[in-house]
Amino acid sequence: MSRKDALVGLTDEDLTSTVAAAGGKPFQARQLAHWIYKHGAAEFDDCRNLPNRLLAALGERHTVRSSHVTHVDASDDGTRKLLIELADGETIETVIIPDGTRTTLCVSTQVGCPVGCVFCASGLLGVRRNLTAGEIIEQVLHARDRLDEPLTNLVVMGIGEPLLNLASLVPALARIHDRDGVDMGARRITVSTSGYPERMRELAKTEHAYNLAVSLHAADDDLRAQLVPNAKALVADIVAAAREYFEQKGREVTFEVVLLDGVNDRERDADVLARSIQGFPSTVNLIPWNPVDEIEGCERPLPESVDRFAEELRRRGANVTVRRQRGADRSAACGQLRILAER
Ligand code: SAH
Ligand code: SF4
Repeated sequence: MSRKDALVGLTDEDLTSTVAAAGGKPFQARQLAHWIYKHGAAEFDDCRNLPNRLLAALGERHTVRSSHVTHVDASDDGTRKLLIELADGETIETVIIPDGTRTTLCVSTQVGCPVGCVFCASGLLGVRRNLTAGEIIEQVLHARDRLDEPLTNLVVMGIGEPLLNLASLVPALARIHDRDGVDMGARRITVSTSGYPERMRELAKTEHAYNLAVSLHAADDDLRAQLVPNAKALVADIVAAAREYFEQKGREVTFEVVLLDGVNDRERDADVLARSIQGFPSTVNLIPWNPVDEIEGCERPLPESVDRFAEELRRRGANVTVRRQRGADRSAACGQLRILAER
């Protein structure tokens, strides 16, 4: 049997023509979108003010969503990691991170990752495919199903390199941002990239001003090439593209640095980093490395080394924050997300 197509992720235009093909009117397409994105309807039966005949006709060729949650790992600190199975049997992970009045979701954009950063679990098996816009949006819908409180923030920092999948990312974020979609403000959405200057410029051309985080890790080109093997751009080009993003969008850029003991946390690393972003109103977010079983040769620095590195940067004029570790007892912390090897 051929697989039915999901409605989540369709543009308004495509949803309208799909509803028309099932005998419905444009206003019913809008009602359907309301059920799917506002009320989180996962089945046609959940859409209560639409005629049964129309719902039955839609159900012959379509499903509402394409993916489902197969497992939830709850961490002692309240973080929850959802394992999601896609229609073709691939799996991804998405993480809910509650923090006081704020609840953040960390979404994936690819099945695996082609960048292969030496410290990260997500790229261990390479990349298998890009997610569709619908599969990105559905991570938000699945998370919301499980929350009593509102989902306030979104970070595109799960599995995959978001800017290598702009074709799905841009429409997915538009739907998540849209008032008639999930209705999350652009200021509450952050896209993280391992540094593709041309694609950062493309993201800057999109309508909305999302926050941008750039995973720099090292400001020395040789060291960066060792840590981020498949992202070939030079640090100066990456910083220049980040600055253009800031100038065009008016959104402050964050530079992320995963700190590896003795590798990129030395005084000279702070020196090169501070110099490369000097005069650029931005924040450096230090992320002490989270352990990954298969990865050897990386060590998490001691808290005092992290503090020392932060101080060295601050002395050189940088704004610095240190990311708190969340969900590590369930392998749900930054860089610990992965796809399943066996299928
Ligand atoms: N591919 C994008 C977004 C996903 S990774 C990117 O690289 O920016 C999100 C963040 O988690 C990145 O800053 C990444 O460097 C960081 N990260 C990856 N592995 C990690 C690990 N083992 N410990 C801590 N942070 C890690
Ligand atoms: Fe991919 Fe980001 Fe992990 Fe690097 S850190 S392998 S770019 S997910």
